[in-house]
Amino acid sequence: MHYEGSRGGCVCSFEEALFSGLAPDGGLYVPVVWPSLTPSAISGYAGSPYAFVAHDVIFPFLGSCISKNEFRVMVEKAYSGFTHPAVVPLVQTGANDFILELFHGPTMAFKDIAMQLISGLMDHMPCDSGRHKTLLCATSGDTGAAAVEAFRDCQNMDLFILHPKGRVSEIQRRQMTTVKEGHIHNIALEGSFDDCQRIVKTLFSDCVMRERFCFSGINSINWARIVAQVVYYISAAASLGAPHRKIAFSVPTGNFGDIYAGYVAHCMGLNIERLIIGTNVNDLLTRVLRTGVYEVQDVIATQSPSMDIQLSSNFERLLFDLTGRDSSCIAVMMESLKLYGRFVLDEALCASLHHLFCSYSCNEEETVWTMKDVFRRTGLVIDPHTAVGVKAARSARSEGAVDVDTVLVTLATAHPSKFPKSVRAATGIFPDLPERVSDLYAEEERYEVLPNDVRTVSCFIETQSRRIRY
Ligand SMILES: *Cc1c(COP(=O)(O)O)cnc(C)c1O
Repeated sequence: MHYEGSRGGCVCSFEEALFSGLAPDGGLYVPVVWPSLTPSAISGYAGSPYAFVAHDVIFPFLGSCISKNEFRVMVEKAYSGFTHPAVVPLVQTGANDFILELFHGPTMAFKDIAMQLISGLMDHMPCDSGRHKTLLCATSGDTGAAAVEAFRDCQNMDLFILHPKGRVSEIQRRQMTTVKEGHIHNIALEGSFDDCQRIVKTLFSDCVMRERFCFSGINSINWARIVAQVVYYISAAASLGAPHRKIAFSVPTGNFGDIYAGYVAHCMGLNIERLIIGTNVNDLLTRVLRTGVYEVQDVIATQSPSMDIQLSSNFERLLFDLTGRDSSCIAVMMESLKLYGRFVLDEALCASLHHLFCSYSCNEEETVWTMKDVFRRTGLVIDPHTAVGVKAARSARSEGAVDVDTVLVTLATAHPSKFPKSVRAATGIFPDLPERVSDLYAEEERYEVLPNDVRTVSCFIETQSRRIRY
């Protein structure tokens, strides 16, 4: 399998896409063709173990970099640490409504699903004859925690995690900062998540730094993150009767990685009726669908901090596909975004977007109200991010964007105990931390506060990196 950059040029292998994260011109990698799944393959996944489906779905994307058997062992290992035997269980909340719980991994958010696998892949493929690697990670809270868990045993690399200071929940912060391993370095940046992401992207595009430190990125701009997330769309759909039953997904969205994985599943042959984007008041995507204008505004802090994002990087991958893979058109849009903070989608592009997607935003009161209402009706305690997804699912149903007899699955992206204050305020229930993480509050924290400035961050990396100098 080969990969191409969304802004043109650069065709590469899976390994190269895995380790470089971002194409040299700032574009994002996508496979040159979509592997396809037949209807009988999809229906055959019903009742299969998650690891089996994961192996089958992901393997065609990998090329020749790993054997089938080695990959089988890797996938088994990645999902062995999940506390639910189904890995991603479905919970029924209405006649045709389901919640897909993606939070049974080690850090209790859906980021574990991809991160547990990507650490195995990176460990398996020593890039550049085993040079010491430096991983960069910008996080709005959950990615960093998942990365710490996934990479804590990988001593042959340094991992630098940038989170926006004071804008992640206490549990999210402690999951990152109480780690003892010396190869993991936490930076609390005086800025927003978008600032963290911008700094990471800037460091990447600095060829000298990139070469010297052998940088890799593990944000969802990394293709390997996306591909691991395609699996649960397919496994959930199969167990609910696809392809014979119509299916739609509602996805609480920030960087557009998770829902884009749903789009990939659709392209591979899973016939999805609709993909519903749920945003909090940082509603860039809802505005794009309504107006056709992609325009970045200031980030507002909410009780669903993992979606406090105004620049949804993976949207570029979708646009690339919807323009018929017109990389020069994408390059022009991204240049406009860089220069003016906005670009405009033409009519044809808007139409193809509306063909599959719809988008709804959810303000803070609606988030609280939805958590409360779901608890009252079903007894289920959901976290604020999931509530944004549920609200969007309900709006889509009531506006007729989804047929009444279509199965509608909302992705539950975090365990409620990660956001105990909001959950208690809404439901009166204080969700206890699962036992495996209950000692978080006793551990000492370790992190460096840095100003929102690329140079300071790059100096910090310089001094802290344990890379063997040569
Ligand atoms: C990361 C995250 C999201 C948003 O996912 P994207 O892939 O960035 O759209 C939603 N909910 C939770 C809990 C998350 O951690």
